[in-house]
Amino acid sequence: MAMETEMLTGDTYFSQACESFLEKKYNFPKVFLTNSCTIALEMAAVLIDIKEGDEVIMPSYTYVSTANAFALRGAKIIFADSREDHPQVDESKLEKLVTKRTKAIVAVHYAGFACNMNRIKEISEKHQLMLIEDAAQSIGVFYENSSLGSIGDIACFSFHETKNIHCGEGGFIVINNPAFLKRAEILKNKGTNRSAFIRGEVNKYEWVDLGFSSSPSALASSFLLAQMENIDLVESKRKQLWEAYYKKLSCLKEKEIQLPVIPQGSSNNGHIFYLVCRSETERNKLIDYLKDQEIHSVFHYQALHASPYFKERYTGEKLPNAERYTGCLLRLPLFFDLTPSEVDYICDKVIDFFSK
Ligand SMILES: *Cc1c(COP(=O)(O)O)cnc(C)c1O
Repeated sequence: MAMETEMLTGDTYFSQACESFLEKKYNFPKVFLTNSCTIALEMAAVLIDIKEGDEVIMPSYTYVSTANAFALRGAKIIFADSREDHPQVDESKLEKLVTKRTKAIVAVHYAGFACNMNRIKEISEKHQLMLIEDAAQSIGVFYENSSLGSIGDIACFSFHETKNIHCGEGGFIVINNPAFLKRAEILKNKGTNRSAFIRGEVNKYEWVDLGFSSSPSALASSFLLAQMENIDLVESKRKQLWEAYYKKLSCLKEKEIQLPVIPQGSSNNGHIFYLVCRSETERNKLIDYLKDQEIHSVFHYQALHASPYFKERYTGEKLPNAERYTGCLLRLPLFFDLTPSEVDYICDKVIDFFSK
Protein backbone atom coordinates (compact mmCIF):
# COMPACT_ATOMS: atom_id res chain seq x y z
CA MET A 1 0.00 0.00 0.00
CA ALA A 2 3.02 2.31 -0.19
CA MET A 3 1.59 3.72 -3.40
CA GLU A 4 -1.48 4.96 -1.57
CA THR A 5 0.50 6.98 0.92
CA GLU A 6 3.05 8.38 -1.55
CA MET A 7 2.64 12.11 -1.05
CA LEU A 8 3.71 13.26 -4.51
CA THR A 9 1.11 11.41 -6.54
CA GLY A 10 -2.17 12.94 -7.59
CA ASP A 11 -5.34 12.70 -5.52
CA THR A 12 -3.54 13.48 -2.28
CA TYR A 13 -3.80 16.43 0.08
CA PHE A 14 -3.05 19.30 -2.32
CA SER A 15 -5.26 18.11 -5.16
CA GLN A 16 -8.16 17.55 -2.80
CA ALA A 17 -7.64 20.97 -1.24
CA CYS A 18 -7.72 22.56 -4.71
CA GLU A 19 -10.85 20.65 -5.67
CA SER A 20 -12.75 21.63 -2.52
CA PHE A 21 -11.62 25.23 -2.89
CA LEU A 22 -13.10 25.40 -6.38
CA GLU A 23 -16.30 23.59 -5.41
CA LYS A 24 -16.94 25.97 -2.52
CA LYS A 25 -15.91 29.21 -4.14
CA TYR A 26 -17.73 28.75 -7.42
CA ASN A 27 -20.56 26.48 -6.35
CA PHE A 28 -19.48 23.58 -8.57
CA PRO A 29 -21.11 20.27 -7.60
CA LYS A 30 -18.01 18.19 -8.43
CA VAL A 31 -14.51 19.11 -9.60
CA PHE A 32 -11.67 16.83 -10.71
CA LEU A 33 -8.27 18.42 -11.30
CA THR A 34 -6.66 17.45 -14.59
CA ASN A 35 -3.33 17.98 -16.31
CA SER A 36 -4.86 20.38 -18.82
CA CYS A 37 -8.09 21.79 -20.17
CA THR A 38 -7.36 19.78 -23.31
CA ILE A 39 -7.60 16.48 -21.44
CA ALA A 40 -10.71 17.72 -19.59
CA LEU A 41 -12.35 18.35 -22.99
CA GLU A 42 -11.31 14.87 -24.17
CA MET A 43 -12.86 13.41 -21.03
CA ALA A 44 -16.05 15.38 -21.73
CA ALA A 45 -16.20 13.86 -25.23
CA VAL A 46 -15.99 10.35 -23.74
CA LEU A 47 -18.50 11.12 -20.99
CA ILE A 48 -21.16 12.31 -23.41
CA ASP A 49 -20.41 9.22 -25.48
CA ILE A 50 -19.39 10.85 -28.74
CA LYS A 51 -19.46 8.35 -31.61
CA GLU A 52 -18.34 8.43 -35.24
CA GLY A 53 -20.64 10.77 -37.15
CA ASP A 54 -22.12 12.63 -34.18
CA GLU A 55 -22.18 16.36 -34.82
CA VAL A 56 -20.82 18.88 -32.33
CA ILE A 57 -21.46 22.60 -32.78
CA MET A 58 -18.87 25.12 -31.61
CA PRO A 59 -17.36 28.46 -32.63
CA SER A 60 -14.62 28.44 -35.25
CA TYR A 61 -12.85 31.22 -33.36
CA THR A 62 -11.45 29.08 -30.53
CA TYR A 63 -8.41 27.10 -29.53
CA VAL A 64 -7.59 23.83 -31.32
CA SER A 65 -8.32 21.67 -28.26
CA THR A 66 -12.01 22.61 -28.23
CA ALA A 67 -12.51 20.88 -31.58
CA ASN A 68 -9.75 18.29 -31.43
CA ALA A 69 -11.20 16.62 -28.32
CA PHE A 70 -14.43 15.77 -30.14
CA ALA A 71 -12.79 15.08 -33.51
CA LEU A 72 -10.60 12.46 -31.80
CA ARG A 73 -13.77 10.50 -31.04
CA GLY A 74 -14.96 10.71 -34.64
CA ALA A 75 -17.34 13.64 -34.25
CA LYS A 76 -18.11 15.89 -37.19
CA ILE A 77 -17.32 19.41 -36.07
CA ILE A 78 -19.87 22.03 -37.10
CA PHE A 79 -18.36 25.48 -36.86
CA ALA A 80 -20.38 28.59 -36.08
CA ASP A 81 -19.43 32.22 -36.68
CA SER A 82 -18.58 34.82 -34.05
CA ARG A 83 -20.67 37.88 -33.38
CA GLU A 84 -20.10 41.09 -35.25
CA ASP A 85 -19.58 43.13 -32.07
CA HIS A 86 -17.36 40.68 -30.17
CA PRO A 87 -15.62 37.33 -30.75
CA GLN A 88 -18.06 35.15 -28.79
CA VAL A 89 -20.15 32.72 -30.81
CA ASP A 90 -23.14 34.33 -32.54
CA GLU A 91 -25.99 32.67 -30.67
CA SER A 92 -28.47 33.72 -33.34
CA LYS A 93 -26.70 31.43 -35.85
CA LEU A 94 -26.61 28.30 -33.73
CA GLU A 95 -30.06 26.82 -34.01
CA LYS A 96 -30.01 26.51 -37.78
CA LEU A 97 -26.89 24.32 -37.46
CA VAL A 98 -28.76 21.72 -35.41
CA THR A 99 -29.59 18.47 -37.27
CA LYS A 100 -30.81 15.02 -36.22
CA ARG A 101 -27.17 14.02 -35.69
CA THR A 102 -26.26 16.91 -33.39
CA LYS A 103 -25.09 15.62 -30.04
CA ALA A 104 -23.67 18.66 -28.29
CA ILE A 105 -22.93 22.35 -28.30
CA VAL A 106 -19.62 23.59 -26.93
CA ALA A 107 -19.90 27.13 -25.58
CA VAL A 108 -16.50 28.84 -25.48
CA HIS A 109 -16.22 31.81 -23.14
CA TYR A 110 -13.66 33.90 -25.00
CA ALA A 111 -11.35 36.31 -23.14
CA GLY A 112 -12.99 35.64 -19.79
CA PHE A 113 -16.45 36.78 -20.91
CA ALA A 114 -19.59 34.69 -21.00
CA CYS A 115 -21.29 33.89 -24.25
CA ASN A 116 -25.07 34.19 -24.31
CA MET A 117 -25.75 31.20 -22.07
CA ASN A 118 -29.48 31.84 -21.70
CA ARG A 119 -29.99 31.45 -25.42
CA ILE A 120 -27.50 28.60 -25.80
CA LYS A 121 -29.05 26.69 -22.91
CA GLU A 122 -32.48 27.22 -24.38
CA ILE A 123 -31.36 25.72 -27.72
CA SER A 124 -29.65 22.77 -26.09
CA GLU A 125 -32.68 22.00 -23.94
CA LYS A 126 -35.12 22.35 -26.82
CA HIS A 127 -33.15 19.91 -28.99
CA GLN A 128 -31.96 17.71 -26.09
CA LEU A 129 -28.30 18.37 -26.73
CA MET A 130 -25.45 18.13 -24.29
CA LEU A 131 -24.01 21.50 -23.33
CA ILE A 132 -20.27 21.66 -22.67
CA GLU A 133 -18.57 24.85 -21.50
CA ASP A 134 -14.99 25.51 -22.57
CA ALA A 135 -14.28 27.95 -19.76
CA ALA A 136 -10.48 27.65 -20.11
CA GLN A 137 -10.03 31.43 -19.75
CA SER A 138 -12.92 32.13 -17.47
CA ILE A 139 -12.18 31.23 -13.90
CA GLY A 140 -14.02 33.56 -11.55
CA VAL A 141 -16.44 34.88 -14.17
CA PHE A 142 -20.14 35.09 -13.44
CA TYR A 143 -23.06 35.04 -15.84
CA GLU A 144 -26.07 36.61 -14.17
CA ASN A 145 -25.96 34.79 -10.82
CA SER A 146 -24.08 31.66 -11.87
CA SER A 147 -20.36 31.13 -12.14
CA LEU A 148 -19.23 30.11 -15.60
CA GLY A 149 -18.67 26.39 -15.56
CA SER A 150 -21.76 25.72 -13.49
CA ILE A 151 -24.27 26.11 -16.34
CA GLY A 152 -23.56 23.32 -18.87
CA ASP A 153 -23.64 19.56 -18.25
CA ILE A 154 -19.85 19.58 -18.08
CA ALA A 155 -17.29 22.39 -18.03
CA CYS A 156 -13.55 22.47 -18.66
CA PHE A 157 -11.01 24.96 -17.30
CA SER A 158 -7.30 25.55 -17.79
CA PHE A 159 -4.43 26.29 -15.42
CA HIS A 160 -1.96 26.72 -18.27
CA GLU A 161 0.71 29.32 -17.64
CA THR A 162 -1.07 31.80 -19.94
CA LYS A 163 -4.27 31.84 -17.83
CA ASN A 164 -5.12 34.05 -14.82
CA ILE A 165 -3.90 31.46 -12.31
CA HIS A 166 -1.83 28.45 -13.27
CA CYS A 167 0.49 25.59 -12.38
CA GLY A 168 2.47 25.52 -15.62
CA GLU A 169 0.15 22.97 -17.22
CA GLY A 170 -3.12 22.03 -15.54
CA GLY A 171 -6.86 22.32 -15.53
CA PHE A 172 -10.05 20.81 -14.20
CA ILE A 173 -13.34 19.32 -15.23
CA VAL A 174 -16.64 20.25 -13.57
CA ILE A 175 -19.39 17.65 -13.55
CA ASN A 176 -22.74 19.41 -13.20
CA ASN A 177 -24.95 16.68 -14.64
CA PRO A 178 -25.09 13.96 -11.96
CA ALA A 179 -25.55 11.30 -14.65
CA PHE A 180 -21.82 11.61 -15.44
CA LEU A 181 -20.47 11.59 -11.94
CA LYS A 182 -19.78 7.92 -11.45
CA ARG A 183 -18.17 7.45 -14.84
CA ALA A 184 -16.06 10.61 -14.50
CA GLU A 185 -14.49 9.22 -11.35
CA ILE A 186 -13.55 6.00 -13.18
CA LEU A 187 -12.43 7.85 -16.28
CA LYS A 188 -9.91 9.98 -14.41
CA ASN A 189 -8.60 6.90 -12.59
CA LYS A 190 -7.30 5.24 -15.78
CA GLY A 191 -10.53 3.30 -16.15
CA THR A 192 -10.41 1.77 -12.68
CA ASN A 193 -12.67 1.89 -9.64
CA ARG A 194 -9.78 3.06 -7.48
CA SER A 195 -11.81 5.83 -5.81
CA ALA A 196 -14.48 3.35 -4.69
CA PHE A 197 -11.67 1.13 -3.38
CA ILE A 198 -10.16 4.00 -1.37
CA ARG A 199 -13.58 4.70 0.13
CA GLY A 200 -13.77 1.01 1.13
CA GLU A 201 -16.73 0.27 -1.13
CA VAL A 202 -14.95 -2.57 -2.98
CA ASN A 203 -12.11 -4.82 -1.75
CA LYS A 204 -9.82 -4.43 -4.77
CA TYR A 205 -9.58 -2.07 -7.68
CA GLU A 206 -9.88 -3.20 -11.25
CA TRP A 207 -10.18 -2.14 -14.86
CA VAL A 208 -13.89 -1.41 -15.24
CA ASP A 209 -14.16 1.09 -18.15
CA LEU A 210 -12.07 3.25 -20.47
CA GLY A 211 -9.91 5.83 -18.78
CA PHE A 212 -7.29 8.55 -18.77
CA SER A 213 -4.27 9.35 -16.66
CA SER A 214 -5.30 12.89 -15.93
CA SER A 215 -4.41 13.71 -12.32
CA PRO A 216 -1.73 16.33 -11.69
CA SER A 217 1.01 15.45 -9.22
CA ALA A 218 1.21 17.09 -5.80
CA LEU A 219 4.11 19.18 -7.15
CA ALA A 220 1.67 20.90 -9.52
CA SER A 221 -1.30 21.04 -7.16
CA SER A 222 0.67 22.50 -4.25
CA PHE A 223 1.83 25.29 -6.56
CA LEU A 224 -1.76 25.70 -7.71
CA LEU A 225 -3.17 25.91 -4.20
CA ALA A 226 -0.91 28.88 -3.49
CA GLN A 227 -2.15 30.54 -6.69
CA MET A 228 -5.77 29.90 -5.70
CA GLU A 229 -5.31 31.51 -2.34
CA ASN A 230 -4.44 34.70 -4.23
CA ILE A 231 -7.05 34.50 -6.96
CA ASP A 232 -9.07 37.51 -5.80
CA LEU A 233 -5.97 39.66 -5.71
CA VAL A 234 -4.91 38.45 -9.16
CA GLU A 235 -8.34 39.17 -10.57
CA SER A 236 -8.68 42.63 -9.08
CA LYS A 237 -5.23 43.66 -10.27
CA ARG A 238 -5.87 42.36 -13.80
CA LYS A 239 -9.25 44.06 -13.91
CA GLN A 240 -7.74 47.34 -12.84
CA LEU A 241 -5.22 47.13 -15.71
CA TRP A 242 -7.97 46.05 -18.12
CA GLU A 243 -10.11 49.04 -17.13
CA ALA A 244 -7.16 51.41 -17.50
CA TYR A 245 -6.67 50.15 -21.06
CA TYR A 246 -10.36 50.46 -21.80
CA LYS A 247 -10.63 54.00 -20.51
CA LYS A 248 -7.59 55.33 -22.26
CA LEU A 249 -8.22 53.56 -25.58
CA SER A 250 -11.92 54.37 -25.80
CA CYS A 251 -11.02 57.30 -28.07
CA LEU A 252 -10.14 54.73 -30.77
CA LYS A 253 -13.80 53.84 -31.23
CA GLU A 254 -14.13 57.02 -33.27
CA LYS A 255 -11.68 55.54 -35.73
CA GLU A 256 -13.72 52.35 -35.91
CA ILE A 257 -11.23 50.33 -33.97
CA GLN A 258 -13.25 47.72 -32.10
CA LEU A 259 -12.75 47.54 -28.33
CA PRO A 260 -13.87 44.67 -26.11
CA VAL A 261 -17.59 44.48 -25.40
CA ILE A 262 -18.64 42.85 -22.15
CA PRO A 263 -21.59 40.67 -23.13
CA GLN A 264 -24.86 41.25 -21.29
CA GLY A 265 -24.98 39.39 -17.98
CA SER A 266 -21.23 38.69 -17.90
CA SER A 267 -18.62 39.83 -15.41
CA ASN A 268 -14.97 40.37 -16.35
CA ASN A 269 -11.96 38.55 -14.90
CA GLY A 270 -9.44 40.77 -16.70
CA HIS A 271 -8.05 37.86 -18.71
CA ILE A 272 -7.39 39.48 -22.09
CA PHE A 273 -7.44 43.02 -23.43
CA TYR A 274 -7.86 43.04 -27.18
CA LEU A 275 -8.37 45.48 -30.04
CA VAL A 276 -9.81 44.70 -33.45
CA CYS A 277 -8.14 46.67 -36.23
CA ARG A 278 -9.77 47.63 -39.52
CA SER A 279 -7.65 45.28 -41.60
CA GLU A 280 -5.10 42.53 -41.22
CA THR A 281 -2.43 44.78 -42.71
CA GLU A 282 -3.17 47.46 -40.12
CA ARG A 283 -3.09 44.88 -37.30
CA ASN A 284 0.26 43.49 -38.44
CA LYS A 285 1.72 46.99 -38.79
CA LEU A 286 0.58 47.79 -35.26
CA ILE A 287 2.27 44.63 -33.93
CA ASP A 288 5.51 45.67 -35.68
CA TYR A 289 5.20 49.27 -34.51
CA LEU A 290 4.76 48.18 -30.89
CA LYS A 291 7.61 45.71 -31.21
CA ASP A 292 9.88 48.60 -32.19
CA GLN A 293 8.88 50.23 -28.88
CA GLU A 294 9.66 46.96 -27.08
CA ILE A 295 5.98 46.23 -26.50
CA HIS A 296 4.99 42.64 -27.09
CA SER A 297 1.50 42.39 -28.61
CA VAL A 298 0.14 39.25 -30.22
CA PHE A 299 -2.66 38.02 -32.46
CA HIS A 300 -4.87 35.20 -31.27
CA TYR A 301 -6.81 32.26 -32.77
CA GLN A 302 -6.67 31.17 -36.37
CA ALA A 303 -10.29 30.30 -37.25
CA LEU A 304 -10.41 26.50 -37.17
CA HIS A 305 -12.69 26.01 -40.17
CA ALA A 306 -9.91 27.52 -42.32
CA SER A 307 -7.04 25.65 -40.62
CA PRO A 308 -4.69 23.39 -42.61
CA TYR A 309 -6.26 20.32 -40.97
CA PHE A 310 -9.88 21.32 -41.43
CA LYS A 311 -10.20 23.48 -44.53
CA GLU A 312 -10.57 20.51 -46.90
CA ARG A 313 -13.19 18.99 -44.60
CA TYR A 314 -15.19 22.17 -44.14
CA THR A 315 -18.46 22.23 -46.04
CA GLY A 316 -20.33 25.00 -44.20
CA GLU A 317 -20.99 28.64 -45.01
CA LYS A 318 -18.42 31.41 -44.94
CA LEU A 319 -17.70 32.62 -41.41
CA PRO A 320 -16.75 36.25 -42.01
CA ASN A 321 -16.53 37.37 -38.39
CA ALA A 322 -14.32 34.46 -37.31
CA GLU A 323 -12.06 35.30 -40.26
CA ARG A 324 -12.05 38.98 -39.38
CA TYR A 325 -10.98 38.27 -35.77
CA THR A 326 -8.29 35.92 -37.09
CA GLY A 327 -6.85 38.71 -39.22
CA CYS A 328 -7.58 41.83 -37.22
CA LEU A 329 -7.58 41.02 -33.49
CA LEU A 330 -4.57 41.93 -31.39
CA ARG A 331 -3.94 41.37 -27.68
CA LEU A 332 -2.08 43.95 -25.62
CA PRO A 333 0.20 42.94 -22.71
CA LEU A 334 -1.77 42.03 -19.59
CA PHE A 335 -0.09 40.22 -16.71
CA PHE A 336 0.04 40.47 -12.94
CA ASP A 337 3.28 42.45 -12.68
CA LEU A 338 2.35 45.01 -15.32
CA THR A 339 1.95 48.48 -13.77
CA PRO A 340 -0.67 51.17 -14.49
CA SER A 341 2.07 53.48 -15.75
CA GLU A 342 3.22 50.83 -18.21
CA VAL A 343 -0.37 50.51 -19.42
CA ASP A 344 -0.41 54.27 -19.87
CA TYR A 345 2.79 54.11 -21.90
CA ILE A 346 1.45 51.28 -24.09
CA CYS A 347 -1.79 53.20 -24.71
CA ASP A 348 0.17 56.30 -25.75
CA LYS A 349 2.05 54.26 -28.31
CA VAL A 350 -1.13 52.65 -29.63
CA ILE A 351 -2.80 56.07 -29.93
CA ASP A 352 0.32 57.45 -31.68
CA PHE A 353 0.10 54.65 -34.22
CA PHE A 354 -3.50 55.44 -35.06
CA SER A 355 -2.95 59.20 -35.26
CA LYS A 356 -0.45 58.76 -38.08
C1 LIG B 1 -6.05 27.63 -23.13
C2 LIG B 1 -7.25 27.10 -23.77
C3 LIG B 1 -7.44 25.72 -23.94
C4 LIG B 1 -6.39 24.70 -23.64
O1 LIG B 1 -6.00 24.68 -22.32
P1 LIG B 1 -4.79 23.73 -21.86
O2 LIG B 1 -4.90 23.72 -20.37
O3 LIG B 1 -3.54 24.37 -22.36
O4 LIG B 1 -5.03 22.39 -22.46
C5 LIG B 1 -8.65 25.28 -24.48
N1 LIG B 1 -9.62 26.15 -24.83
C6 LIG B 1 -9.45 27.48 -24.69
C7 LIG B 1 -10.58 28.39 -25.06
C8 LIG B 1 -8.26 27.99 -24.17
O5 LIG B 1 -8.10 29.32 -24.05
